[in-house]
Amino acid sequence: MSDCLFCKICAGEIPSAKVYEDELVYAFRDIAPQAPTHILVIPKNHIPSVDGITAENSAVVAHIFEVIPAIAAAENLTGGYRVVSNCGADAGQTVPHLHFHILGGETLNPKMA
Ligand code: 5GP
Ligand code: ZN
Repeated sequence: MSDCLFCKICAGEIPSAKVYEDELVYAFRDIAPQAPTHILVIPKNHIPSVDGITAENSAVVAHIFEVIPAIAAAENLTGGYRVVSNCGADAGQTVPHLHFHILGGETLNPKMA
């Protein structure tokens, strides 16, 4: 998607603080962190949101959930962390490219909504 912010970040057209990259996945620091550690993990292929996950493209989601614990370990999130994906307007999704927030580095708010 040529006009997608996160596709442009994946492609290196917009700079980002890269945390991890492989052939399927890109991870980078959120520009407006909501916790001491706030990382976004995205598939390199454009999927708009959780609603866009299908049997055909879900392998990358499984891969993302293999990568997330490795990133958490590398970031020393030994006390735990939260993984969040906002889907659609009611959840406050602002970038329509599937992404998983990793939040940690402090005791997080026990309320999620
Ligand atoms: P959402 O609100 O869609 O769940 O999450 C989008 C996230 O992307 C927000 O936490 C926001 O701070 C982050 N974000 C938006 N634009 C940029 C950007 O240009 N660079 C980086 N690194 N993060 C961004
Ligand atoms: Zn995209």
